[in-house]
This record gives sequence, C-alpha cells and structure tokens, in this order.
Amino acid sequence: MIPGNFDYHRPGSVDEAAALLGRLGEDAKVLAGGHSLLPMMKLRLAEPKSLIDLGAIAELRVIREKDGVLQIGAMATEAALIASDLIRRHCPLIAEAAALIADPQVRNRGTIGGDIAHGDPGNDHPAIMLALGASFVLRGGKGERVVAAGDFYRALFETAMKADELLVEIRVPALRPGTGASYQKLKRKVGDFAIAGAAAVIGIKDGRCGHAAIALTNVGPTAVNAEAAAALLVGKAIDEALIGEAAKLAMSACAPTADLRGPVEYKTRMAGEMTRRAIREALKRAKGG
Ligand SMILES: Cc1cc2nc3c(=O)[nH]c(=O)nc-3n(C[C@H](O)[C@H](O)[C@H](O)COP(=O)(O)OP(=O)(O)OC[C@H]3O[C@@H](n4cnc5c(N)ncnc54)[C@H](O)[C@@H]3O)c2cc1C
Repeated sequence: MIPGNFDYHRPGSVDEAAALLGRLGEDAKVLAGGHSLLPMMKLRLAEPKSLIDLGAIAELRVIREKDGVLQIGAMATEAALIASDLIRRHCPLIAEAAALIADPQVRNRGTIGGDIAHGDPGNDHPAIMLALGASFVLRGGKGERVVAAGDFYRALFETAMKADELLVEIRVPALRPGTGASYQKLKRKVGDFAIAGAAAVIGIKDGRCGHAAIALTNVGPTAVNAEAAAALLVGKAIDEALIGEAAKLAMSACAPTADLRGPVEYKTRMAGEMTRRAIREALKRAKGG
C-alpha cells in the first residue's frame, strides 16, 4: 500500500503546468484532489514518475457564467460546486449531484475536473455532463481545444485527452426556462459509488417535449448516452406509458459487469428504474413543479 517513487512538481499557473506536462509526457500524471489517483498509486495500478500538482493554480478554481454558459474551473471541488450560488441559479443539477458523491472528506478535496478526467464510468459527473450537453476545454503544448462531452469518453479509463493535455475548464449551458433536470442515483449506502444512476434533462414547449437527453452511470465501460431513449420523448406529450418505453430503451443501452454491487440483470433493471424516476422529476421541474 505504499506508492512507488515519484518527483513532485507544483506549478503556479496553467501555462507552467502545460509546459511541464509537455516536457514530462506520459511519465507524468496530473494530481488534482488525489482521491482516485492516490489509491491507484498505492495499489501500484498507476506508477507515474512525476506528479504535477494543480493545487496552487487559483485560476483553475474559478466558477463564472458568461453568455448563458457556466464556466467551471477543473479544480473546483465538489464542496465548491455545492456552495456556488451561480451553479444553483443556472444549473442546480450539478450541485445536487455533487452532494451525492462520496462523503464530506472526499467532497472537500475531490474536483469536478478529476472526476471527469479519470474516465471511471462509476463517477457521477460524466453522465451528468453528457445529459447537460457540456464541453471540456483541454490545454496542451499545441494550444487549446474544446471537446464535447459526447466525444470525450472512449473506453474504460480512456478519454480523448492526450498525454500532454490538461482539462482546464468545463462549460455547461445554463438550463433554459421550461427545462427541468434530475439525477437519480441508487447506492448501497451513503458514500458509495452508484449501482446505477440516470441523469435526465427535459425541455417542454406547448405541453410537448422539445428537447430530451438521458445518460447513465456505472452500467457500461463509459457513461452511457441513452440517445434512443431521449429521442423517443421528443415531440410527444410525456406520460407514464412513454416513460416506461424510454426506460426500456435506456436498459437496452446498458452493458454493466457483475461485481459486488450486483449481477448484470439487477444493475440493468435499476438503470431502467433510475431513468423512470429521473424523467418524472425532470418533467415536473420543467413544468415548474
Ligand atoms: C471513498 C470514495 C468514494 C467515492 N465515491 C464517489 C462517487 O460516489 N461518485 C463519484 O463521482 N466519485 C466518487 N469518488 C471519486 C472522487 O469523486 C474523486 O475525487 C474523483 O474521481 C477524482 O477527482 P480528484 O480531484 O480526486 O482527482 P485525482 O484523483 O487527483 O485524479 C484522477 C485522475 O484524473 C487526472 N486528472 C485530474 N485532474 C485533471 C486535470 N485537470 N486535467 C487532466 N487530468 C486530470 C489525474 O491525472 C488522474 O489520472 C469516490 C472516491 C472515494 C475515495
């Protein structure tokens, strides 16, 4: 349970961190809150030769809103998301979901950027970012690029981020009037990862669904974008029968593995149930309830 040797770097700016990452390349790992990386290092599942600690870069903690888009610094902690008035005003779902992550100790250090960059399908932010249509700002030696959440997750623990790139900012469109969002998470006990989770975002216009997005946590090698389930809702007045059909489509998009949290069939059915609950709640909120 003791990690291997590593060099430690603590840059004071994003430019300095990007330059270090460019120079040290695949031998280096970025350190954010450390709640996923350090356990992996202790188990020797990760053995970086260098750690680049982002903890001293104040600009990465800033949360702002510009032209209807929330811009969240990658080093904003879960606790900061929960406490942010801007997030509560423009996209309360992010704060609600952050409050369901782990326990206060983890939430005080764990960051939204680390949660997204880690590529763990058990983490909650990836599915939420898919459903919210977020995008991620990546900074590397060749400058900056923006990747949509839908293009970011490639495979288990594998993302579109290159070895010399940093995640610097998460951009989330503020929820529009007439739009409701909900995240439903089933877990064995407080502080645990999801058995299954579902995020739903529903926009209502003239009594019908004008926009829908549904994404699932911990039921596949990456967060699952349940596009067919969402598409089924669009253009229709949503009722219980339609919600049931959408949940079936969401279940058919699942590919969980059996583990301590349960067998495949149980996890798949729970993803369906979380989808039903998330759609119902998002619909209620879209209607102002
Ligand atoms: C007991 C426990 C329970 C937990 N339960 C949950 C849960 O229910 N839901 C949930 O979502 N998470 C859960 N987590 C995980 C937790 O949220 C972690 O904090 C999160 O996965 C990683 O964030 P971090 O800031 O700690 O990142 P780190 O552990 O520091 O980094 C994780 C990975 O991301 C990379 N990385 C970090 N930041 C960046 C960046 N800005 N740019 C590029 N790469 C970066 C690192 O190099 C590393 O590979 C739990 C953790 C623990 C210990």
